[in-house]
Amino acid sequence: MKVATTRRTKIVVTLGPALQEAGRLREALEAGADVVRINLSHTTLDELGAWLQRVDGLEAELQRPVGVMLDTKGPEVRLTGVPSPGIALKAGASFAVGEPGGPAVDWPEWTQWLSVGMALEFGDGEAVAEVVSVDPPTVRLQVIQGGQLAPGKKVSPRAGTWPLPPLSPFDRAALEAAGARADFLAVSFVRGPEDLRQVRQWLATRGLSPQLVAKMETRRAVERLDAILDEADAVMVARGDLGVECSPVEVPELQKQIIFAASERGVPVVTATQMLESMVEHPVPTRAEATDVANAIWDGSDAVMLSEETAVGRYPVEAIRTLAELAARADQAAQYRHRIPLKPQSVAEAVAWAACAIADTLGVDAILTPTESGATARSVSRYRPAPPVAGLSPHRHVLRRLTLWWGITPIPMEPAQSSDDMMNAAVTAAVRRGMVAEGDRYILTAGVPFGTPGSTNLLRIESVSAPMPTPGAP
Ligand code: PEP
Repeated sequence: MKVATTRRTKIVVTLGPALQEAGRLREALEAGADVVRINLSHTTLDELGAWLQRVDGLEAELQRPVGVMLDTKGPEVRLTGVPSPGIALKAGASFAVGEPGGPAVDWPEWTQWLSVGMALEFGDGEAVAEVVSVDPPTVRLQVIQGGQLAPGKKVSPRAGTWPLPPLSPFDRAALEAAGARADFLAVSFVRGPEDLRQVRQWLATRGLSPQLVAKMETRRAVERLDAILDEADAVMVARGDLGVECSPVEVPELQKQIIFAASERGVPVVTATQMLESMVEHPVPTRAEATDVANAIWDGSDAVMLSEETAVGRYPVEAIRTLAELAARADQAAQYRHRIPLKPQSVAEAVAWAACAIADTLGVDAILTPTESGATARSVSRYRPAPPVAGLSPHRHVLRRLTLWWGITPIPMEPAQSSDDMMNAAVTAAVRRGMVAEGDRYILTAGVPFGTPGSTNLLRIESVSAPMPTPGAP
């Protein structure tokens, strides 16, 4: 049996100034970035347009799909009027927000939601202050945990989120600008399934349908995890903000809870934030970081994500290479992987499960999943089969989606008119790509009639017969 020897866990890389230099983005993609994340909290519309153009150019040049994830600003409030490099806050000191010429926030109506005694966190918990008085527009605060009040940092209530809509006006403008190029939309500070429904409804009015990645960053969201998993296409363990509200010591348990619940439900998971944080400044990771990455993968993450390491770090490409190497090693040591109970709940799931079970026990060289919407490939990915898996589609937007799902190699195939056509086109494309060769045994699983998303009902075990195209031929 052919066991995939390459990395199977996907890598999400945050774009930022560290990848601006000519050639850096290309190096990042070559080092292993599968999906690029654009953080709308730190990007202008012009910068967004420029990044998308560069990503599309490189995608064409490297001839491989690159997923784009827009990460919303969401219901967040940021500091304005703080001079660089920030203001040092000492524990016990008091300061004002909203006075002329001093620090302010980008949502002046916030005073309606403040009350005396309420604790506010700055940044990812770098400083904490308590509201002493509210006299709109001025809010007086007393520092309870000293730290740096840096320009542009988030201000969050210690408990819960601000009562703002899930998409900010800027998020909406960015989505309209990116159009169908937003393959994934990471929805920040999701409070429940209604946020995702509201976002989807708004997207539908614009004819957009990115995969929604629910960012789990509050206690309230974790409490409503099951309902969120019903609505989300994927979830992100957003450890930065999660650690602000719930304290860093709760993060390991919450991470496992989210990953296990999502994997059991077949919802892909991205584990994010501070994965290789020390590589912002240093060319090698700490041993603790290396172990954290492997454990996140063995727990069941589909993808791992880099944030500051690639957005503003000194070693962005080295960080991606390191993550890719760590992921490849963790993927090979499959004996440590958490096994999810297999409980297929539909024909499509049962067929995907059976394809993986047969592939592993019988020993085949590859699993081919021609897919109209990506659903078949995603179901197969869930069962973490040992052989390589091809996600084959005639649609560019579907191939781009497959960049996030564990173990799936997205491969373009010719459009098909009939089921037989579809199977031939899939095998031809997989041979061309070098995934299978003459005589190799493969499992093909798909939904027939082809063209009905989510209808996986076919499973064939066959060998590649001659004559077939030469690998690499157009
Ligand atoms: C996080 O908080 O971990 C996260 C991924 O979100 P952001 O980077 O937008 O703060």
